[in-house]
Amino acid sequence: MNHFKRQTKIVATLGPASSTKEQIRALFDAGADMFRLNFSHGTHADHRARLLAIREIEKETNRPIPILADLQGPKLRVGTFAGGVVTLKEGQTFRFDLDPTMGDDKRVQLPHPEIFAALVVGSNLLLDDGKLRMRVTKCGADFAETVLIAGSKLSDRKGVNVPDVILPLSPLTPKDHADLTAALDMGVDWIGLSFVQRAEDIIEARALIGTRAAILAKLEKPSAIQNLLPILEQADGFMVARGDLGVEMPPEDVPRLQKLIVREARRVGKPVIVATQMLESMITAPTPTRAEASDVATAVYDGADAIMLSAESASGQYPVEAVAMMNRIATHTQEDPTYHTGLVAQHQDPQNTAADAITAAAKQVAETIGAVAIATYTTSGSTTLRAARERPEVPILCLTSKIETARRLTLSFGVHAVHTQDISSFGEMVEKATDIAYRDKLADVGQSIIITAGVPFGHSGSTNSLRIAVVEE
Ligand code: PGA
Ligand code: MN
Repeated sequence: MNHFKRQTKIVATLGPASSTKEQIRALFDAGADMFRLNFSHGTHADHRARLLAIREIEKETNRPIPILADLQGPKLRVGTFAGGVVTLKEGQTFRFDLDPTMGDDKRVQLPHPEIFAALVVGSNLLLDDGKLRMRVTKCGADFAETVLIAGSKLSDRKGVNVPDVILPLSPLTPKDHADLTAALDMGVDWIGLSFVQRAEDIIEARALIGTRAAILAKLEKPSAIQNLLPILEQADGFMVARGDLGVEMPPEDVPRLQKLIVREARRVGKPVIVATQMLESMITAPTPTRAEASDVATAVYDGADAIMLSAESASGQYPVEAVAMMNRIATHTQEDPTYHTGLVAQHQDPQNTAADAITAAAKQVAETIGAVAIATYTTSGSTTLRAARERPEVPILCLTSKIETARRLTLSFGVHAVHTQDISSFGEMVEKATDIAYRDKLADVGQSIIITAGVPFGHSGSTNSLRIAVVEE
């Protein structure tokens, strides 16, 4: 299958294993549609160098390539231990406090007064990705006493998750503020917010970001699930961040939450990425487990806009193979005749707007007459997002005169975005759309494409027309 026809997008995280322009180009050629700069690791100089390499590849390939700057967020960590590591016994008591003195097998620093303020007797603390579980037996403004329920080894600076309480923490730490400024300066397209808890977190970030980048809310806290609908309303896109989500909630809840989030994101017409451990074993092996292959396919069957690689492409031994494998699994799944039946079953009714009526009709007409693409023209991106929400069987060719819009939309299901000059009439749109559909091998001579647009041209949000056009020599 032509790359451009794969509907589920691939996001590849960059890192030490994928930093040179050649390495990044190899990931792009293998099928990566979007790159993620993980600000939990690396320096601003590292990220800037990767961004500049991507922008060069964008020029060489003439394809818009979105870049996500993923901010670390309020990731909580314990302090350090005298010996680097301690071995604890189940049932013993263990104390957390604000004292920076190195810890031992009785206590350690937890340098976050906000946690102590929010804990209550009975709260659970999860350490090191859930490998240790402790329950609070007593707490005050600057300490918590706990009993170890499960686990044993604890070492320096391990992460702490507090699933049961809403922490009075801004989603943006001082480090995030500095990282955000650097990322916006570089000109990234999406900003990822980690550990979002409430819609207000997005509003706070939006006040700083404005329209300079789109906002991707990472859903990885029980409180984000409780506040899912208001968060869906505020953010521009979402990530099912299964790594932390699966620590804060029981693993058996992750599959249904994945399906819930993907379905709800589609309902509001915004892109959603399924992330973490998708091809985990490919960090050290050239092939995935069968269960991993099946997991990637499940996200595709669910109708996710995108699937993501983390360590597999950032620091693993087989970054290009991992992207190529995702590409193969996604394209093969898409060719399964039951794939579209499944997406149709989850179809959401169009809203009561001209744009939704026209896009729903475009999908219908394309399927009835066997047209091979649906073309949209957009400035803000909104018309194209509504088309992606329909999950049509054919590619959505999106023409836009704004490169920022082309990049952002590239994350969305089935969207083949092309940056063009301004288009000023329906006639010009028909000509451009058919030319580009042919050039990018979405359509052959004699095949039809469906074109939607607003007439008169150039008024944002005025989609009101549908045309069938045949690709000519
Ligand atoms: P992270 O987010 O890799 O930044 O932690 C993804 C996740 O938690 O799954
Ligand atoms: Mn996370």
